Amino acid sequence: MREECGVFGICHNNLKNEIAQLSYLGLFALQHRGQESAGIAVSSGKNILVYRDLGLVGEVFKEGILSTLQGIASIGHVRYSAASLNSWQNSQPILQEFAGGSFALAHNGHLTNQSELRTIFGLSDQNFHNCPTDSHLICKLIQTTREKNMEKALEKIIPQLKGAFCLTILTEGKLIGLRDAQGFHPLVLGRLGDGYALASEDCAFSIIGAQYLREVQPGEMIVIENNRYRTKQILAGNKKALCIFEHVYFARPDSNVFEENVAEIRERIGRRLAQEQPAEADMVICVPDSGRFAALGYAHEANILYQEGLLKNNYIGRTYIQPNQKLREYTVKIKLSAIAGIVAGKRIVMVDDSIVRGTTSRNLVKLLKNAGAKEVHVRISSPPVNYSCHYDIATPAREELWTNRFSLDKLRQWLEADSLGYISLKGLTGVFQKNKPADFCTACFSGEYPV
Ligand code: AMP
Repeated sequence: MREECGVFGICHNNLKNEIAQLSYLGLFALQHRGQESAGIAVSSGKNILVYRDLGLVGEVFKEGILSTLQGIASIGHVRYSAASLNSWQNSQPILQEFAGGSFALAHNGHLTNQSELRTIFGLSDQNFHNCPTDSHLICKLIQTTREKNMEKALEKIIPQLKGAFCLTILTEGKLIGLRDAQGFHPLVLGRLGDGYALASEDCAFSIIGAQYLREVQPGEMIVIENNRYRTKQILAGNKKALCIFEHVYFARPDSNVFEENVAEIRERIGRRLAQEQPAEADMVICVPDSGRFAALGYAHEANILYQEGLLKNNYIGRTYIQPNQKLREYTVKIKLSAIAGIVAGKRIVMVDDSIVRGTTSRNLVKLLKNAGAKEVHVRISSPPVNYSCHYDIATPAREELWTNRFSLDKLRQWLEADSLGYISLKGLTGVFQKNKPADFCTACFSGEYPV
């Protein structure tokens, strides 16, 4: 029931006609966090309307739909179903009733104690099985409290949830934002005129002209109502477990995640990678787009020419989403092509952010060699992904992860690369300035699961 998603929220008493448009723009900026479905819920102050469907934000919200969604507050969601079905039913925001009226909920994360929750809250078989995702389960738990006040309902259920969750919740009169005690995934607060906004990443604020204020703290609940916000720490500040993969791959480079700019961090990772894994080469190229800033850092540090040797077709979604291996290999080729005029006859360092199943790197080495590259040295700006993620980044089961089955040299041979080098875990966690190595969840690399 794993979800890799983007959430958004806005509350502003005087933007009636624009509230849904602003959510739409916010979701547009968060599109990289999920491309399977999109939805917006708007509260008029008296009732809540939701529109959601499968597809990209621009496909779901055709002309005319947004103007029907008017109100004082809104939440939005983009979804990539890492484990559960990509069906309309699973798209969000979810609209439900509770003792205090209607509410809508948007969720990013993955709970690790579903069956324990079922027992604690005494859910019947039928109720439990009617929850196709963790997000539905959270809604069901809110209902079971029978509380009329959403804040009180949340204070009862949230301390029982284990795992990763960032929530935006809309009631008829309030917008609420919440982040789990370890702060796995990011959630930030911004100001727009007299109102406030919440988003998974602050790239959603720049697009709507909102000003970044601060992160929602791990375990903090923020309640926005009547153009004011109040805050309550509802979970004890545990040891943090910030998802390092947000910086490696998932977040947008112009975002500030865990208070550090993603592009800058990736550049530093690339520099560190060049120190740890040097190569004799004529040029450094990136795997667009997620490898770009690390490749730039590598080139700057190694003093090797940076070039764009692979061209990305921007009109297809993330290839990783394709369901089976055969399709995945095919889509890598539609997505990326080698620029022969640039790479032919050259010794190339190709930098990507990660190897998961190895499909991307293997296909790209082939593409580059077919385009005449003399040597291809693969450099990866994260350590080997050895373990699957329990907190929602869509890594496959352990058996599918290359590094578990083969040695580094076996993998290099399979990739047909001239050399292969990963950054070390110490190197990766050492590039941050505001966050200590121990603040991160590195379970996908180390197998040390914080929850
Ligand atoms: P693979 O081809 O299976 O080795 O996957 C590695 C490629 O997928 C890299 O180019 C990454 O940029 C990308 N990637 C890594 N993690 C994820 C993820 N959680 N979701 C989608 N794509 C990913």
